[in-house]
Amino acid sequence: MNCRFAHAFTALLITLLTACASVPPRPPTTTEGGVPIDATHTAKGQDSRVLFLVIHYTVADFPLSMKILTQQEVSAHYLLSDEPQPRIFRLVDENRRAWHSGASAWGPNKRLNSSSIGIEIVHPGFMQGPNGQRLYLPFPKAQIDALIPLVQDIVKRHEIRPERILGHGEVTPAYKEDPGPTFPWKLFADLGITPPWPDAARVAARRAVFEAQLPDAAWFQLALARHGYAVEPSGVFDKQTERVLMNFQMRYRPGDYAGQPDAESAALLWVLSNPMPAGATAPPAAPVAPLAPPDRPDPPPPPPAMR
Ligand SMILES: [Zn+2]
Repeated sequence: MNCRFAHAFTALLITLLTACASVPPRPPTTTEGGVPIDATHTAKGQDSRVLFLVIHYTVADFPLSMKILTQQEVSAHYLLSDEPQPRIFRLVDENRRAWHSGASAWGPNKRLNSSSIGIEIVHPGFMQGPNGQRLYLPFPKAQIDALIPLVQDIVKRHEIRPERILGHGEVTPAYKEDPGPTFPWKLFADLGITPPWPDAARVAARRAVFEAQLPDAAWFQLALARHGYAVEPSGVFDKQTERVLMNFQMRYRPGDYAGQPDAESAALLWVLSNPMPAGATAPPAAPVAPLAPPDRPDPPPPPPAMR
């Protein structure tokens, strides 16, 4: 091929390829089942069906985790292996329901399989300590390094709100506690993936107040419910409140997650419910209130009944 012709041919090829790349895909003319439709009009009022991201651990090794999650009546959209170079397996298409959080709730949302993406992390959970206590095992750094971009990708594509990235135990506190107290929630907060971590100075200041008078069971139940946890306002420190408080502590105070009420837990809850105004640098000097108005507003404001 002579040189001038080759250049002309290459230029033509590039033009054609560029033209192809810039042509928007044609709207379909039939449903997937072949029924004729006109899809040229697109509604403005729409969003992803995925409102939550729920993180689990499997309490099984990799082969068994894969077997359970592909061959039994439980599943997850993603399975993250515990190999030295962890692999991410998609077991369920994101447009379909995976069966990972059956009897679950967060705020007014119930049975979150319909509105969530589930990620299962291959992890043994805990070992039995010498006194029968649970010793939760850490997550390998390589696994967390693989998880972070996956979470970021899912959250971005579905516009999942940071406060809706949750652990299984948080949405099913009665009998679940995964991903457990060793999951690095603070790292996710520091990376801006989940809401800001409670400010230590504000927690300390509020803790001193609550040490003088520990709030009662009704206060804790109201605060936990306002945060999103499903807890009945029984007015007493019962088993369900202990389970919810334990899951809260596993995330925000993993050094002590006995599920018992204390001033630090109350302070953490208070600070989470009363985020610092944007741009503020000092703790607000507001007097102690039983509990401030509902926690962070719901941005953006879609018609409430529609979501
Ligand atoms: Zn789980």
